[in-house]
Amino acid sequence: MNQTAQIFFPVNVPTAFDYVVPNGLALQRGDFVYAPIGKQMKMGVVWSLNDVPTQGTSSRKLKSIADRKSTRPLSPEMLDFIDWTARYNGASTGNVLRMVIRNYKALDPSAVVTLYAPSGTQPTKMTPARAAVLEKGGPWPARASEAAERAGVSAGVVKGLVKVGGLLAKSGPVDPPFDMPNPEHAGRELTPRQREAGLDLAAQVKARVFNVSLLDGVTGSGKTEVYFEAVAQSLRQGQQCLILVPEIALTQAGLRRFKERFGAEPASWHSQMGAAARRRVWREVAQGRCKLVVGARSALYLPFPELGLIVVDEEHDTSYKQEEGVIYNARDMAVVRGHLSGHSVILASATPSLETLHNARIGKFSHVVLPERPGAAVLPEIALIDLKDHVPEKGAFLSQPLLDAVGDVTGRGEQALLYLNRRGYAPLIICRTCGEKLKSPDTDSWLVQHKRTGRAMCHLTGFSMPMPRRCPNCQAEDSLTSVGPGVERIAEEAQAAFPMARIEVLSSDTAGNPAELAERMRRMEQGEIDILVGTQMVVKGHNFPRLTFVGVVDGDLGLAGGDPRAGERTYQTLVQVAGRAGRADKPGRALIQTHQPEHEALVALAAGDRDMFIGVELAMREMLGLPPFGKLAAVIFWGPDPAKVEALAKKFLNAAPRADGIEILGPSEAPIGRLRGLYRQRLFVQAESQVNLSKYMRAWRGKVRPASKYKIQIDIDPQSFM
Ligand SMILES: [Zn+2]
Repeated sequence: MNQTAQIFFPVNVPTAFDYVVPNGLALQRGDFVYAPIGKQMKMGVVWSLNDVPTQGTSSRKLKSIADRKSTRPLSPEMLDFIDWTARYNGASTGNVLRMVIRNYKALDPSAVVTLYAPSGTQPTKMTPARAAVLEKGGPWPARASEAAERAGVSAGVVKGLVKVGGLLAKSGPVDPPFDMPNPEHAGRELTPRQREAGLDLAAQVKARVFNVSLLDGVTGSGKTEVYFEAVAQSLRQGQQCLILVPEIALTQAGLRRFKERFGAEPASWHSQMGAAARRRVWREVAQGRCKLVVGARSALYLPFPELGLIVVDEEHDTSYKQEEGVIYNARDMAVVRGHLSGHSVILASATPSLETLHNARIGKFSHVVLPERPGAAVLPEIALIDLKDHVPEKGAFLSQPLLDAVGDVTGRGEQALLYLNRRGYAPLIICRTCGEKLKSPDTDSWLVQHKRTGRAMCHLTGFSMPMPRRCPNCQAEDSLTSVGPGVERIAEEAQAAFPMARIEVLSSDTAGNPAELAERMRRMEQGEIDILVGTQMVVKGHNFPRLTFVGVVDGDLGLAGGDPRAGERTYQTLVQVAGRAGRADKPGRALIQTHQPEHEALVALAAGDRDMFIGVELAMREMLGLPPFGKLAAVIFWGPDPAKVEALAKKFLNAAPRADGIEILGPSEAPIGRLRGLYRQRLFVQAESQVNLSKYMRAWRGKVRPASKYKIQIDIDPQSFM
């Protein structure tokens, strides 16, 4: 008998390649191997192995695998997970594999280098440069170059310290292992209710079978401390633990809470990290040595061999959906991964998505509820300001009741937050002479004025240019004017109303680097800011003990447009924003300016009645056959010529396989009809719940092959309706 192997390579190819396994090479599923493709030798992964008779009837001449890489193979569960992700989302297995393996160096053991650490004795001869190394060169052990850079001296000074006895040198791995988290390190005092919830979740982990829990706790109820109990249980079992958080919430302050509870900094994983840090986390996770990872959505595709728990914190957050490349929802894929590996998954939120709440209601997920804030803290009181009754002054955006409330709060020495999810100064720049609106050159979007930087920016593509003095259409000078508010403009208006107040803007434009952001957060915590004007940057998990008032400048902003989740999104965001107000002993208050005080999301919010809102929303979704009662997919067609994109969309429509329980809407031009110079059409496919929509879409997609430069993109369960 001979053996053949099916190999997938981390490239965008939908099928596996067959190779002969040379005699004497013992392989298993998940092994990394070198095999020839054309004239090149590539690294791939063994997907399956088949025994074939030596005198096979097949006359195909298969090439031979060259060699096996000596490293831990991907687990069978990981291979299944990659397959599942590809099938469900209509992606190629190779593309999903590419999300898993990015850096081949992570497959090799860490390089060994000379590392330095303090000896504990005084150097025989001290100089200012040596003192700087001993003081600022850490964290130790460190390479000479790292310690030297931190101390602002040359590497020679570091090495010189060995001779005079200040430092010790020894060889060690360039990527050191992570410190082992200790489940018994330090628990925070829990309320009886929190304790009970923590025990529930820990028991689920202890069962070592697939289960999903919704941890449903109001803002400030201590969800993190509660799920730490489940994390501790997983660590006690020697298993690995993954905490997914929205990228924006992955802050030093957030990581510090893990360190305080488990005595060791967790490994973190996000899109901004450098290649060396990535390589280190990947290798330590793949070898099963790194037990605790806190990461953004792509951490789900790290090759954990021994997962015991995945927590998806802020599970309702839209950033869990990846919208480019392989389109997937990390929240849903986390549940799949738990199912394939047979472990616990916890979805945590103060404002769970309707899908998750529905699954908890029908008993698919267990439901762990934290209905109150601990101790004396109470939830903020929320009220609406009807902008029809309280019209702001001409050219202004803050109504009198809102200004009065800010005045009261700051007068008492407490802090106010003004929330508007719009970056920059004004969302629209218009010419008073000819009416021209400044548009992005290659995208259907208006340019946003940024006063701080003096530029006009496209928020979809990042394009920007200096604010022009002349209208590009009629050439009139000084005729361009700003329409509508962004956070910079609200800050200006607030400063005019409260000249003595210390006001700062917080948005992704002004956040700067993580250190600057941390510094601003510190100033807010210490009460050095009176009024913070912020976008959704401020919503994520920051606790400001002196913040007692939240003013929402435009409560209607999320309700516009053709998104069926608009009401849900608005409700979630406003609950989270209002939840920033009042912690500890000071009660909080929130006022929401709106033109639609009768909208069910806002009525429910003011009444503090989530069940009412969910009841109405679910009934509407059921009537329309939308998720979670039916299934939805979007198809987007892209290309450089608008007529050809339209023709491609029509051709695709005509190729739709016949099936029951399927309804097709469109195609039509997408709301953003042009993006980065490419034209876009889209259609929606709505299916009854019993239909396997992924399978249907795969079959359909296989029937049409677009010309080069044209693209057909399938989005299962779309979250974005642009
Ligand atoms: Zn003009």
